[in-house]
Amino acid sequence: MANSPIYLDFHATTPVDQRVVDAMLPFFTDYFGNPSSLHSYGWQAEAAVKNSRETIAKTINAQPEEIVFTSGATEANNLAIKGVAEAYFSYGKHIITVQTEHSAVLDPCRYLESLGFEVTYLPVESDGLVSLTTLEKAIRPETILVSVMAANNEIGVLQPIEEIGALCQKQEILFHTDAAQAIGKVPLDVQAMNIHLMSMTAHKVYGPKGIGALYVRRRQPRVNLAAQLHGGGHERGMRSGTLYPPQIVGFAKALDLAVAEMDSERKRLVGLRSQLLHSLNQLPDICLNGHPTQRLPGNLNVSFGGVDGQALLLGLQSVVALSSGSACSSASTAPSHVLKALGRSDQLAYASLRFGLGRFTTAAEIQQVGEAVVATVKALRAV
Ligand SMILES: *Cc1c(COP(=O)(O)O)cnc(C)c1O
Repeated sequence: MANSPIYLDFHATTPVDQRVVDAMLPFFTDYFGNPSSLHSYGWQAEAAVKNSRETIAKTINAQPEEIVFTSGATEANNLAIKGVAEAYFSYGKHIITVQTEHSAVLDPCRYLESLGFEVTYLPVESDGLVSLTTLEKAIRPETILVSVMAANNEIGVLQPIEEIGALCQKQEILFHTDAAQAIGKVPLDVQAMNIHLMSMTAHKVYGPKGIGALYVRRRQPRVNLAAQLHGGGHERGMRSGTLYPPQIVGFAKALDLAVAEMDSERKRLVGLRSQLLHSLNQLPDICLNGHPTQRLPGNLNVSFGGVDGQALLLGLQSVVALSSGSACSSASTAPSHVLKALGRSDQLAYASLRFGLGRFTTAAEIQQVGEAVVATVKALRAV
């Protein structure tokens, strides 16, 4: 697209990698069967689903039977949280999560509160990390689930998942993590990290929209889930609905590529991010939101003092496509709940930019964006 702004919103979604598109295409036309059908068309589709399931499981050190395909991470989060609540309420009705979670975790929790569950929304430190002592103190005998995201979608902060997993395992509480932003970008191992349930989505890792999965542990412990979609009993009864081979094949291909290229991509993105921060640091009165290093390689989130957030976005929109601290749910104009949880003022929360760098970001683009942001902030401060 000629003259379109530079895309730095890779946390919102990513373009589908051409290699992923190529892997998907035959499954729209040549191998179009229903994986449930008992004839060769069905078997071909079923074989592709089986291979994809194995590939996805391998990238997180899980078993193929532990992967439940969903429409994305929103559905996976709903299935995990409501599914556990419905299956385990007789053991207790207390759930722990964090104030900085995505709405796809917070909203199911609020819904469960309306049904009589109690939810603790843990605060975070000023760097966005949840404190293990705070978490441990919040645990009660009736706590059935802890849900803490692996990587934050606004500030990129990586929570101490392995430590939280160990704590939950010791206390015999189920542990769910929303890994929508983390898969394919940072190493994830459901065994080593004692994860019981993990939400994933393809469209944040250069795969197609509309496909994701929930990892559901089958051993030590075996997690029971109440289905949220009832029908033909697909996905071992946990999620009915005809499987969608093109999307599933694309998801597996995308994740496989991302994991294979993770180390080199991390180094490249960290380099570009430093370059961007270096340009922004010419400006006085800016602050970095979130932990300086314990964050996704492609994430930079910065607040600009003394600037109107709306005017800043408007001034930049022809140069760069990104989100601000109020635009995460684009319909809402409230300041970001994540930045507020870090203790930022409304002004700083509004006047923030989330830079999401990705696979197709170049050094030339970063230079152009850096110059545009510096010029725009200077101009706005001058008026
Ligand atoms: C994008 C995102 C979601 C929602 O995923 P969908 O697949 O779009 O439903 C959930 N959680 C986090 C952290 C995300 O970044």
